[in-house]
This record gives sequence, structure tokens and C-alpha cells, in this order.
Amino acid sequence: MKNSSRIIVIGGGIAGLTAAENLAEIGWEVLIIERTGHLGGHGHHWACMATSNCNRCSACAVFDRVGRVLAHDKISVLTLARVASLKGEPWAFKVRIEPEEVREEACRSHPHLVLSQQREVCADFVVVATGFTPYDAKESPLLGYGRFPEVLTTLDVDEMLLRNHVQSFLKPDVSDIAFVQCVGSRDKQAGRDYCSQFCCKTSLRLARKLLYERPDLEITLYYIDLQVTGKEFRHFLKEMSGRMKFIQGTPAEISHGETEGKVIVKRFDPSEGKASIAEHDRVVLSIGQVASPENKDMADALGLDVAPDGFLALSEAEGSRVSTRPGVFLVGACSGPADLNTSSMQALAATTEIGRPAVMADTYRTALGRR
Ligand SMILES: Cc1cc2nc3c(=O)[nH]c(=O)nc-3n(C[C@H](O)[C@H](O)[C@H](O)COP(=O)(O)OP(=O)(O)OC[C@H]3O[C@@H](n4cnc5c(N)ncnc54)[C@H](O)[C@@H]3O)c2cc1C
Ligand code: SF4
Ligand code: SF4
Repeated sequence: MKNSSRIIVIGGGIAGLTAAENLAEIGWEVLIIERTGHLGGHGHHWACMATSNCNRCSACAVFDRVGRVLAHDKISVLTLARVASLKGEPWAFKVRIEPEEVREEACRSHPHLVLSQQREVCADFVVVATGFTPYDAKESPLLGYGRFPEVLTTLDVDEMLLRNHVQSFLKPDVSDIAFVQCVGSRDKQAGRDYCSQFCCKTSLRLARKLLYERPDLEITLYYIDLQVTGKEFRHFLKEMSGRMKFIQGTPAEISHGETEGKVIVKRFDPSEGKASIAEHDRVVLSIGQVASPENKDMADALGLDVAPDGFLALSEAEGSRVSTRPGVFLVGACSGPADLNTSSMQALAATTEIGRPAVMADTYRTALGRR
């Protein structure tokens, strides 16, 4: 690997990988710096949601992207590494990289990618793609997560699917499952007055997958406002409307029922103007995205700003992916909730913005060369 790379991408999730691949394709040398031992970020952990056909969850796009990035001759990768400081200006940044202090296991297939000692590299631009943290449902104690084994999160169910353990969730005595939307999102009091974007689609895909495994299941989805943009997804929603119950209004409290193995979902029913209760065998909390608690340290190291909701702040420039520091771009869920597709689109947008000066510079160099 060369000591000088023209673009540094911090974070190897879908956003960082997409930015790296596209930048490399238009001629840049790219160095990806990833804190963990593996590329792929959170998307690497999502199970395939296919039933008899593909459910378009985009999870396999992450695997494909990791393979292409590792094979690309213009992309270098350093894992178990973090950026300690960023000095200088666009076209002349100096980036200090250090080995990550909390070392998890390195990827066995690519042990040579591990950073072993501190180094400084030059960069023309920096792309930050450090992602998000899934909401910890224990922070909503009234919903019973961690207290009642019948209450799980979408992350838990996804993990069971990934490990082929879904039958331990769908035990024969489980016949009635409820999904609860917006857990950790759309919460003004907690400073998270935003929609996490992906979780309505994730719950619907999971529901479809569970119904595929067990067509006799009764599934209810408690929601505030369904976010299902896109023509295809509206068809999907129409299909699911005939197969499960949708109830507007999310629960205030989940508790144990008198019947063993059942939980009671208590909520305010606006149509009746009073509290209503329903019993379910299992409840799946549809958790959202929250800003990484490390964004403050990241912002300090890179000279960036943090927005009031804790995500990294973009500049005021309309439609731009540039941060509040010129030459440093933000893509994916580090700058606000984003699903896999949106994260990739933002990476493409940043590539286009960075590509413009690159094209200009190349043209300029070519013109100088001709003199
Ligand atoms: C339960 C759940 C289910 C979901 N299911 C879906 C789904 O079905 N479909 C969908 O489209 N989306 C889904 N999402 C959302 C999806 O995970 C995100 O859209 C996506 O992961 C965002 O990609 P990213 O690259 O921005 O961030 P991440 O995936 O978080 O990747 C960030 C990367 O940066 C690295 N990193 C962090 N800090 C540093 C640092 N300081 N230095 C170097 N590296 C660093 C991390 O280790 C990680 O590899 C789901 C989310 C949750 C919580
Ligand atoms: S998009 Fe999702 S459901 Fe479709 S094949 Fe890929 S991982 Fe499976
Ligand atoms: S995507 Fe759906 S569940 Fe997620 S925060 Fe938005 S409205 Fe709530």
C-alpha cells in the first residue's frame, strides 16, 4: 500500500464501501479505514428475507460490495484502525491513523489488512461513513424488553433468521405475534423527533418471512404512520394488508398477562377515546437508528460539528454531502437515519461532488502536460 492515498474513507459499511468503489472507478486511489476487524458494517448482519421470491431487503448488496471492494486494485483497506486527527486543507490533508484500542478479532480471510502501528497518510478528500447505533430497547422500560422473554426486537428476530434459529422463536405454542413500530424513533422528548426510515419495511419483510414459515400465524402491527415509499413497496403493503392486522397507535406499556407465556399490550385507542388492551404470544419491537455515541469524539478528531440530534452535521449547502469542514464528506447513517439504499445513494452523490474537482484537476493536469 502506498503511504499517500488520495481519498480516505472512514467506515467500511455499505455507505463507505459504495463511496470507495465508485471513487476508485472514476480513478481515485482510495484507503478505507475500518474500526472493526470486518467490512460490511451493520448490513453485514441482516438476514436474507427471501420467501418464495426475493424480498428486496438489499442485504446481499452488502456482501457483493465487500467482495468487489477487496478485489479492486485502487482500493486499500486498513481494519482495526481509527483516525486520530485530521490536519490541513482539501487536496493537502494529513490524516493520522492509529490502531484501534479495543481490538476485536481480525477477519481470518484477510489478516494482512490489520493496522499494526500508527501512521500518517496524505489525502485530497475525506469521506466519513461511520454509521449509527441501533436503539437499545431497554431505554424504554415500559415496553418490557429485557424483562419479559416474550418481548424481542427486530434485531433479535433478524439474528435468529441469520443463524437458522427461527423455529426457537416460532415454537408450536406461538400463534399470535405483534410488531410495535417507532421504538426509539419519533420521540420528541428524547430529542429523536425523526423517522428511522427503514423499520416499517423491515417489520413488513419480517412479518412476510414469518408467515411464509408459519402461514397460520396471526400478526398485528401497531404503528404511528407507515413509511413505505416506492411503488413496489406499496404493492407489498397491499399484499400484507390482507394477511395481517394494522392498528394505528403504539403501545404505552407492555406487561405480563395472567396467562403464562402471554404479554398484554396497553395503548390509547383514539377511535374509542380510551385505553385498550390486547394479548399476544410474542411482541417484536421495531427499533430505529440513533446517533453513534462516538460522534462527539469523531467530530473533535476531524474538526466537524455534531447536530442537536447527535448525528454529524452537514453543511448548509442545498443537496450537498459536504460536512461543516470543506473537503470532508458525510455519507450514510452517520449524518442521519438512512436505510441501505439511501446510504448507497448518498455515497453516489458524494462521489459525484468529489468527481467534479477531480475531473477538473485531471483536465488541468492534462492541459499542463500538453504545454
Ligand atoms: C434492526 C435493523 C434492521 C435493519 N434492516 C434493514 C433492512 O432490512 N434494509 C435496509 O435497507 N436497512 C436496514 N437497516 C438499516 C441499515 O443497517 C443501515 O441503513 C446501514 O447499515 C447504514 O450503513 P452505513 O454504512 O451508513 O453504516 P453502518 O452499517 O453502521 O457502517 C458503519 C461502519 O463504520 C465503522 N466505524 C464506525 N466508527 C468508526 C470509526 N471511528 N473509524 C472507523 N470505522 C468506524 C463501523 O464499524 C461500520 O463498519 C436496519 C437497521 C436495524 C437497526
Ligand atoms: S435482496 Fe434481500 S431478500 Fe433478496 S436475495 Fe438479497 S438478501 Fe435475500
Ligand atoms: S420507518 Fe416506520 S417504524 Fe421506523 S421510525 Fe419511521 S414510521 Fe416509525
